[in-house]
Amino acid sequence: MPNQTEFSPTQTIPYGRQTIGDEEIQAVIDVLKSPYITQGPAIEKFEQAVAAYCDVPYAVGFCNGTAALHGAYYAAGIGPGDEVITSSITFVATSNAVLYQGGKPVFADISPNSWNINPQEIACRITPKTKAIAPVHFAGSPVALDSIYQLADEHHLVVIEDACHALGARYKNTPIGHCRDMAVFSFHPVKSITTGEGGMVVTPHRHFYEKLLKFRTHGITKDSQQFKVFEDQPWQYEMQDLGYNYRMTDIQAAIGTVQMQKLDGFMERRSQIAQRYREAFRDIPAIQTQEETTGDASANHLFPIWIDVTKTPINRTQLFKALQNARIAPQVHYIPVHLQPYYQEHLRTKQGDFPEAERYHESCLSLPIYPTLSHEEQDYVIKTIKACLS
Ligand SMILES: *Cc1c(COP(=O)(O)O)cnc(C)c1O
Repeated sequence: MPNQTEFSPTQTIPYGRQTIGDEEIQAVIDVLKSPYITQGPAIEKFEQAVAAYCDVPYAVGFCNGTAALHGAYYAAGIGPGDEVITSSITFVATSNAVLYQGGKPVFADISPNSWNINPQEIACRITPKTKAIAPVHFAGSPVALDSIYQLADEHHLVVIEDACHALGARYKNTPIGHCRDMAVFSFHPVKSITTGEGGMVVTPHRHFYEKLLKFRTHGITKDSQQFKVFEDQPWQYEMQDLGYNYRMTDIQAAIGTVQMQKLDGFMERRSQIAQRYREAFRDIPAIQTQEETTGDASANHLFPIWIDVTKTPINRTQLFKALQNARIAPQVHYIPVHLQPYYQEHLRTKQGDFPEAERYHESCLSLPIYPTLSHEEQDYVIKTIKACLS
C-alpha cells in the first residue's frame, strides 16, 4: 500500500459560512469615506440590484431578515386575531414576526420527502381568520408555489414567502423573489449572500412597497395625509403609523451590492457541492437527501440529510458527536417551532401535533456547504460519515 498522507482539518469545518473578498472590503472603505454611512444612496443601489435579480419592481432593505419578515406581515395587514399558516420546520423568526403583529401562527405539517410545507396540510387549516400563508423554501429548495398561490387565490390570502434560504433559487425557471405578493430574504453570514446582518422584502406591488418604507422608519413619511402639500414647510413629516427603526446602513448595503455580483458564482459552487454529496450518498441506504423537483433549482443553503436508524447501527446523536470529534460542525435544522417551550406555553402546541415534522427532526443533520468548502474538505466529511455509518 502506498503511504498516503491523510487530510486532517486545521480548523473546524462549519455547516455554513460567509465568502468575503477584497471587493467587499474596498466597498466598505469607500462608504466610510463618503458623506453617508446610513440613509445614503448605497441602500437604493443594493435594493435595485436585488429587485433586478428577482425581476420585480420593488425591494426594501432592512437591518435583518427578521425585521424584514415583520415588515412584510405589517404590510399584509396582519393584526390581532389574524392567522398565518407556516411550517414548523423553520427558524423561529418566521412565526415570531407574526406574534410581533399580534397575529396567530398556525403550523402545517411538512411533506415527507421535500421537507417543505405540505399544501394539503395548509388547505385543511384555512379558517375565516386566515389572512396569509408564509411558506418557507426550506434549505433553499422551492416550495410548490403553484399549489400555494392557488389556495391563496381561492381564499383571498396574502402569500409571504420566507425566502431567507432561497436567494438564487429558481422555481419553474423563474427566480425565487419573482413573487405573487412578497418574498423575504436574509443576509446573515450563512445565507446565499451576506451583509453581516441584513434583510430585504421584494414585491411587485406599489402599495406593499410604500407600507414597507414607512414601517422601516418609525411609520414616518413626507407624503402627508392631513395636509395637501408641505410647500412652505420643507422640514415637515408625519408619523402615520407605529413603525420601527429597522433600517439597513450604507455599510451593509455596499457589501450586499458586491455580493450580488458574486451570487451566481456562489450558486454554482453550492450546486456542485450538493451534487457531490448526492453522488457519494447514493449507495448508502441509511442516508436520505432532500427530494429534488425537476425544473426547479435549489439555492442549496443547507445540505440536510435524514438518517434512517433502521438501516444503521448509529443514530443521529452519535453521528453528530462523531463528526464533532473529527472537527466537523454539523447542525440540526430545525427543532420544530411548535415544540419550543414558548410556543407550547402560549399557543398550546405539543408533541404529536405534526408527525412528519417531528419524524424529520428526530433524525436530520445539516452537513457543511458553502462556496469556499474545498474538494479535500468535502471528501473528508464524506469519508468520515461513511466510516461512521458502516
Ligand atoms: C435566517 C432566517 C431568518 C431570519 O433572518 P435574520 O437575518 O437572521 O434575522 C428567518 N427565517 C429563516 C427561515 C431563516 O433561515
